Amino acid sequence: MRCPFCNHEESKVTDSRNSDQPNAIRRRRECLRCLRRFTTFETVDLTIQVQKRDGHYEDFQQDKLIKGLDAACHHTRISHQQVCEIAYKITAELMDRQVRDIDATELGKLVMSYLQKLDMVAYIRFACVYKRFKDVDELKVEIENIVPHNQQETANATKKS
Ligand SMILES: [Zn+2]
Repeated sequence: MRCPFCNHEESKVTDSRNSDQPNAIRRRRECLRCLRRFTTFETVDLTIQVQKRDGHYEDFQQDKLIKGLDAACHHTRISHQQVCEIAYKITAELMDRQVRDIDATELGKLVMSYLQKLDMVAYIRFACVYKRFKDVDELKVEIENIVPHNQQETANATKKS
């Protein structure tokens, strides 16, 4: 921690105490060169962790989510602005849940629930990356599941006539 006055690297802690915030500590420091005092604030990083398929954890990164969404929404009706809004909503939702970690599959489902309402092409592209369909049949099942039943009935009726 560099001194904010003279940029010196060494300081000594003169006082430590819990702050008003939970999981935070305030430290009063004195620069060993200029002898000025300053306060540092140490907190636990409350980053949400995403558990990947292989069991490893990774920090949830909004930037990364935006990149993934941008790729899925390329040449669709969904603009970059909308992509960002989806990412903000998802981040807020994760914060609201007050969870410290989330399964990658669960996160994928959450993202897809937003895309499904906006654009089918983006939804399917995202689903392809996220679900890693083994073959075309798996993808077909997914598409059949999302097409509303009344549309399927209409299609069947058309076939019969
Ligand atoms: Zn200093």
